[in-house]
Amino acid sequence: MSTAAAVTTLGDRLRGDAHRVVAAAGGEFAETLRAVQRLGEARLRLSPAARIARERDPAAMFDLDAYAGDVARLAAGEPLAYVLGEQPFHDRVFVVTPDVLIPRPDTEVLVTCALGRLPPHREATVLDLGTGSGCIAITVALERLRAQVTALDASPEALRVAMLNAERLGAGNVRFLRSHWFEAVSGQRFDCIVANPPYVATGDPHLADLGHEPVSALVAGSDGLADLRHIVARASDHLEPGGVLMVEHGFDQRDAVLELFREAGFTDRQGIDDLAGRARVVVGQLAVPVST
Ligand code: GLN
Repeated sequence: MSTAAAVTTLGDRLRGDAHRVVAAAGGEFAETLRAVQRLGEARLRLSPAARIARERDPAAMFDLDAYAGDVARLAAGEPLAYVLGEQPFHDRVFVVTPDVLIPRPDTEVLVTCALGRLPPHREATVLDLGTGSGCIAITVALERLRAQVTALDASPEALRVAMLNAERLGAGNVRFLRSHWFEAVSGQRFDCIVANPPYVATGDPHLADLGHEPVSALVAGSDGLADLRHIVARASDHLEPGGVLMVEHGFDQRDAVLELFREAGFTDRQGIDDLAGRARVVVGQLAVPVST
């Protein structure tokens, strides 16, 4: 290699920044480099192919101020999704802010489960508790255009993000209400209730890695089951006969959640694994009362 090539190229700059982020925030180099490249592509308005093609250009040719600000946020440990302001989920891109949990691939199993229970040709009412970014409610609404989806969240800031996502993605069949769990839908019944509630236990060491996300979306009491207990116990008051409830839960909570479903009178209880093979969702159906 020629020592005369002292010019810092865009590629040099990206790789150097990735090393600096790893040194400051930890993480794996390849994944961090990909994150830095994404920020460069977003701020310089380059497609991945164009970014690759231009990596040999001198860095000085680019206005990297906004990009440098983003890299500083990554180096401070902020998740890429918050820095970019978006996260893909189930084939669509959702706006995210630190007011909402970042949609996880794990949650796609909950969506798949809901879609499996909602035939495309049939009208159905769906309730999403603690909608956050709206990723579950909006995906279900867009995949099942005959469904009427109600999405609740206690946080007005989260609801703003969810409503923005519904508008951007063109979901007209979803309404948003501010509500602490079922409060705003008293007396209303649905065919299907879905929830990805907080389920991490207070003091779980895993929370250290999630410090940038809203605690109210993550933590639920000393065993992580406080909100699941509340939701499962009250769901039957909000389900049509034969209606289904499905909830996401922690990898080690399946037995406890199945038991909550049993106590609440759900039949056909089933545990479903996520894409990584961890216990992640419990679904149950409310028995249709037999008239005598
Ligand atoms: N699955 C999330 C995690 O990373 C937690 C999400 C939740 O509490 N609903 O731990």
